[in-house]
Amino acid sequence: MTTTPDLPAGKRVLLAAPRGWCAGVDRAVIAVEKALEQYGAPIYVRHEIVHNKYVVKTLEKKGAIFVEQTEEVPPGNIVVFSAHGVAPTVHEEAAERKLATIDATCPLVTKVHKEAVRFAKEDYDILLIGHEGHEEVIGTSGEAPDHIQLVDGPSDVANVEVRDESKVVWLSQTTLSVDETMETVDALKEKFPQLISPPSDDICYATQNRQLAVKQMGAEADLVIVVGSRNSSNSKRLVEVALGAGAKASYLVDFASEIDETWLEGVTTIGVTAGASVPEVLVDDVLQWLAQRGYEDVETVKTADESIAFSLPKELRRNLRAEATVNSTQAIRPRKES
Ligand code: SF4
Repeated sequence: MTTTPDLPAGKRVLLAAPRGWCAGVDRAVIAVEKALEQYGAPIYVRHEIVHNKYVVKTLEKKGAIFVEQTEEVPPGNIVVFSAHGVAPTVHEEAAERKLATIDATCPLVTKVHKEAVRFAKEDYDILLIGHEGHEEVIGTSGEAPDHIQLVDGPSDVANVEVRDESKVVWLSQTTLSVDETMETVDALKEKFPQLISPPSDDICYATQNRQLAVKQMGAEADLVIVVGSRNSSNSKRLVEVALGAGAKASYLVDFASEIDETWLEGVTTIGVTAGASVPEVLVDDVLQWLAQRGYEDVETVKTADESIAFSLPKELRRNLRAEATVNSTQAIRPRKES
């Protein structure tokens, strides 16, 4: 039997700003859309272009084919690398298969790759703070596998060993919890007092801004609903930050239909935010769902303005379909006997 939740008076929604869609996600999604427009379907995409179910399904309907490995892409085709970035070996694999590539790696991830390359050249031990198995971490580690070791949170610090304590630097995944990362850095500094920091923040502006907004709004909320997919690192971090800020409960949902009515029992103030890969239409659906249940009063909690935009991948200015066809013809053409 379905029970009707006890809904209190004075209900309101606090809507975090900034929230949702960041500049890197915008660029990556537009890159796939433009590739489909310019070159026609199919366009292959290695891994989810961004970690969001709705975005992936929408692009699939337009003709994108998502694959896990480059070897799944037939020769003569175009493949887009996702916003999370790839290791140099993936570029090599694509070149070997004579694929035309569009690199939609977020420029802020590329910045971390470049830092890794530079510090590896200078023979530093690089301690990469991040989550094991995350695509971004795999891509960054691939830039300098002999110099990078992963540190997956403060509890991992005890296992870290370096060759020379005077030549150690930390870098990080772009989508981590700012507070937890600083805890890890503090623990690393205690162990390696000469540890140096990256030249600029690796945790990107979008991750930091969304966490700051949810921190402010979470302190006042009984419940915080985070719109985002379960494989989205920055979305999961928003749930943790909301709980850390004092929210009594916080849940991650891909769609409004996943909200459980019982979560609203005794709840006056609901915070709403969205991860960096979430389009606003999904937030609108959540607000509408809440309004239908009496949470019509929406107040925006704004902690920052964002105006960052990135230019599209340069490969979109070339005729990749022709290049891929020529490449694959060359790839399958038998060599002339000399
Ligand atoms: Fe780039 Fe940050 Fe967005 Fe990731 S979350 S795509 S690093 S701007």
